[in-house]
Amino acid sequence: MTSDPFFQPVAGTTLPRFAGVPTFMRLPLVDPDHPRRGEVQIGLVGLPWDGGTSNRPGARHGPRALRDASTMIRAQHPVTGLRPFEAARCADLGDIGPNPVDLAETLDRFEAAAAGLKAEGIRPLSVGGDHLCTLPMLRGLARDGAIGLVHFDAHTDLFPPYFGGKTLTHGNPFRVAVEEGLIDPKRSIQIGIRGTAYDDADRDFARANGIRIVTIEEFFARGAADVMAEARAVLGERPAYCSYDIDFVDPAFAPGTGTPEIGGPNSFQALEVVRHIAGLNIVAADLVEVSPPFDTGGLTAWLGASVLFELLCGMVEAV
Ligand code: MN
Ligand code: MN
Repeated sequence: MTSDPFFQPVAGTTLPRFAGVPTFMRLPLVDPDHPRRGEVQIGLVGLPWDGGTSNRPGARHGPRALRDASTMIRAQHPVTGLRPFEAARCADLGDIGPNPVDLAETLDRFEAAAAGLKAEGIRPLSVGGDHLCTLPMLRGLARDGAIGLVHFDAHTDLFPPYFGGKTLTHGNPFRVAVEEGLIDPKRSIQIGIRGTAYDDADRDFARANGIRIVTIEEFFARGAADVMAEARAVLGERPAYCSYDIDFVDPAFAPGTGTPEIGGPNSFQALEVVRHIAGLNIVAADLVEVSPPFDTGGLTAWLGASVLFELLCGMVEAV
C-alpha cells in the first residue's frame, strides 16, 4: 500500500483533465535518473514503433494518443473498488526510443530496456506500437525461463514469416517466442480468434505445441467468466504475460487499428474479460495496435486507456 502523494495521479478535481502535460493516467514521469526510480513497482512505458506492421500502419502514434486519452482515468475501479495507485507504486517511465527505419536495432533497444526493467524490479505495462513490440519485451523478461501467456486478439500471431525469408512482423511474435523458449506454449491461451485465414498454418502450430485457442464463437458461447476460469487453470500460479491487441475488440468500438476484424466483443466485454486476470501472476502486460490515424473521434484511444486501467488493476493484485 502507498499513500505517498508522489505516486498518486493528478486528480481531475485539482487540475482539469485537459490541462497539464499528459502522462499515462496522470502519473509522475520517472525517467531512469529520477531519484525515486528505485521505488517504482509497475511502470507504464511507451513503445512508439510500428515497423512490424504488414498492412495499415500508425501504431507508432499509439503511446501519445493513449497518454492523452488516459487523462480521463480516475483512481478507483468502478466494479471492484480497487484503488490501484494506492495498491502499488506506479509511474510513467516515458518511451523507449525506437529507430523507425531499423527493425533489428529497435528490437534490440526494446529488449535491453525490458531486461533493464526486470533488473530494477519494475513490472512493465507497455503501450505499443504494433504487436511485434511484444517479442523484445518477452526476450528481455524471459531470458531465464519460459513464462505463461494470456493473449487477447482477433489473430493468433503465430503465422509463418510473410513475404519470404525469415521476416519478423506483427503476425508472428508468438510463434517466434515459442521457438525461442520465451513462452511456454502449454501455459498459453489465445482468446477472441476470428477472421478469414490464408490457411491452417497458425492453428497447426498451436495444436502441435499445445497452445489453447479460444475462438470468438467459443468465447461468446461460454462467456468471459467461464473462459477465464479455464485461463487460470491453464496458466496456474507461475509468472505470466498478458498481451492485449486492441483488434480483439469489434471495430465498431475500436476502429483505430491496422487489421480490424468484424464480429468481436463490444466495449463492455472488452473490459469485463480483463477483470478476470485477477488471481493470475501477471508479471508484465501490454496493449498494442492502437493506430490513431485510423481512429474516429478518439474512440479507440479512450477504450484503450480503459483497457490499460483494467490491465493495471490485474497487475497490482499480483505485485
Ligand atoms: Mn496481434
Ligand atoms: Mn490482431
